[in-house]
Amino acid sequence: MALAIIEAFPTIEIIHNAALSEYTNTDTGGPADWLAFPTTVAETQRLVQFANQHDLATTIIGNASNLIVRDGGIAGLVIILTKMNTIEVQSDAIVAQAGAALISVSEKALDESLSGLEFAAGIPGSVGGAVFMNAGAYGGEISQAVTSATVLSTTGEITVLDAIELDFSYRHSSIQDAGGVILDATFTLVPGEKATIKFKMDDFNTRRAEKQPLEWPSCGSVFKRPKGFFAGKLIHDAGLQGYTSGGAQVSMKHAGFIINIGNGTATDYLDVIKHVQETVFDKFQVHLETEVRVIGR
Ligand SMILES: Cc1cc2nc3c(=O)[nH]c(=O)nc-3n(C[C@H](O)[C@H](O)[C@H](O)COP(=O)(O)OP(=O)(O)OC[C@H]3O[C@@H](n4cnc5c(N)ncnc54)[C@H](O)[C@@H]3O)c2cc1C
Repeated sequence: MALAIIEAFPTIEIIHNAALSEYTNTDTGGPADWLAFPTTVAETQRLVQFANQHDLATTIIGNASNLIVRDGGIAGLVIILTKMNTIEVQSDAIVAQAGAALISVSEKALDESLSGLEFAAGIPGSVGGAVFMNAGAYGGEISQAVTSATVLSTTGEITVLDAIELDFSYRHSSIQDAGGVILDATFTLVPGEKATIKFKMDDFNTRRAEKQPLEWPSCGSVFKRPKGFFAGKLIHDAGLQGYTSGGAQVSMKHAGFIINIGNGTATDYLDVIKHVQETVFDKFQVHLETEVRVIGR
């Protein structure tokens, strides 16, 4: 297999046994058997077809800011899309490839005096990850801005899905159920006043820096908002801030975040998550579901 994959794609950077902790925002996670960095849609499509033909499991990663990769790593082929990152303005719309940083797209919207992506100014994901997760903050959500996305299906066809087909709901899109690779997204925005757009983006980023432990590795808010509650408040009220297992710790600054305070592993993260879920359930009978995606072996 080693020779086959490397021979089949001499122009694509492919690393064998790649330490994923170098790519995840938590600085944790075991190795990928194969880690590929395609730069074009055609390369991505060929990689997926090759993996299908050779019964190689395929995992797509964007900016790895909402991921815990288990310490055993990921079997098969992992594709990181951050080298597919063009951002194009087309009148009031922006078309961005999946690997573009969402923050760069919101900055591009600001440059063009286009409003609708201010909420995304500080979300550290890629466009693909943001669509997959229907990322949101401060009252805004990807579903309000994305009108279509180009998707490579699990069987290798490229189709364009509109917002209805993307079936967005809280931290959910249809790609979570159907699988496939998001290749790009179209953001339909409205002309606005540059100073007002900038004011909102700066305000959101100031609030983020005040409330979130951005100085530490993390995967953002670990848990979804349970109906009628706030995950962070439940964790705070359960007295769990500062709870530590190995190098993973419930942040003292924001109870919804688990930070890596040094040499933390994915197992440490999963231990803290389990303890938080059990303690909150014992005290308040509320189940905290993870927003962060846990993958790997
Ligand atoms: C400090 C910090 C702050 C954060 N703040 C917010 C916030 O305010 N709001 C919010 O919603 N989130 C927030 N997050 C979480 C995270 O940034 C978002 O969920 C983001 O959208 C994830 O994008 P990503 O590219 O990092 O995805 P990844 O973590 O790489 O992947 C997440 C999931 O998406 C899938 N995926 C990624 N790209 C593709 C693709 N192209 N095609 C198909 N599937 C794909 C992956 O397989 C995985 O299941 C924060 C995280 C951090 C670390």
